[in-house]
Amino acid sequence: MSVLDLARPELRALQPYSSARMEATGGKIWLNANELPWAQASELALNRYPEPQPAELLDGLAQLYGVARDQVFVGRGSDEAIDLLTRGFCAAGASNIIISPPTFGMYAVAARIQGAAVREVPLRAERGYALDVDALLAAVSRQTRLVHLCTPNNPTGNCLPPEQLERLAEALRGRAVLVVDEAYAEFSDAASATRLLPRYDHVVVLRTLSKAHGLAGARIGVALAAPEIIELLRRIMPPYPLPCASIAAALAALQPEALRLTGERLLLIRLQRELLRAALAAHPCVLEVLPSEANFLAARFVDAAGIYSRLCAAGIIVRSLQKYPGLHDALRVSVGTPEENALLLATLNHVQRAA
Ligand SMILES: *Cc1c(COP(=O)(O)O)cnc(C)c1O
Repeated sequence: MSVLDLARPELRALQPYSSARMEATGGKIWLNANELPWAQASELALNRYPEPQPAELLDGLAQLYGVARDQVFVGRGSDEAIDLLTRGFCAAGASNIIISPPTFGMYAVAARIQGAAVREVPLRAERGYALDVDALLAAVSRQTRLVHLCTPNNPTGNCLPPEQLERLAEALRGRAVLVVDEAYAEFSDAASATRLLPRYDHVVVLRTLSKAHGLAGARIGVALAAPEIIELLRRIMPPYPLPCASIAAALAALQPEALRLTGERLLLIRLQRELLRAALAAHPCVLEVLPSEANFLAARFVDAAGIYSRLCAAGIIVRSLQKYPGLHDALRVSVGTPEENALLLATLNHVQRAA
């Protein structure tokens, strides 16, 4: 059996759009894409359509994540990979996906846009937001197409133990695609789920340059998977997903000097996370700080709504987790610069004294 037996059959038969850049490469005189032959006066020559999947970028990302080029899809953020996976595998009105809330919201949104049902198997709050693997497997039906995991999880910050991941990969073979979102992997010591790719053609790992690499504005996200899945995503992606400026920014971020700087910044963020965690945990207005292996901390407050608006009034914007079941009294704080984190703590002290 091929993992593509889980994909929408009509997409396997689809004749994909064939763009000018896909049909021909090389040459010197480009008269095939109805572009204007002159560029605007800017540093980048933006008069030409970009390569749909730039070879140099695919090679750089393959090297960064330790996979082969034909295991890499690059799109507009991992959000686009989530959307394409949903559209590629889920039939409207028939399929379902499984998520374990509280988790990243886009998995459910993409499914609802596609008309796929969302089955929820909540994380076990009383066990440190651990995944309930037995309950998750019991929720899998013949109509299940995608199982979404997020590690480190947004918004709780905890990682999935590798043996749970392995057990799920094993149990889901031939039944569903296991999507492992590692948007925050660089902030943790956990081994990447890419180690599962050689053995499981139904595992997809999502990575992004938005968080650790500081390129949220460029919208560069990646799906790493078996070549059959990558090929399916390319068949249904928009003709030219990546703007030239974003491709240039991503290539620059993959240069050795940029990667060295990224490494230094990761160390600083991790150090700041521990300092901030300790300071918040000791603060009288904080009930609990959840352990985090990401670049954010979720904390429960005595009066989360009050703190949120006081911080807002001081110009400090954090994320309310009010809408997440079980986290109604929690706020999520991204780890900022040392100065920003100090200012956050000083403002909390001020709020405390005023109360
Ligand atoms: C931020 C985030 C993303 C989105 O990443 P983009 O590559 O910017 O689209 C994906 N997954 C999780 C869990 C996130 O927190």
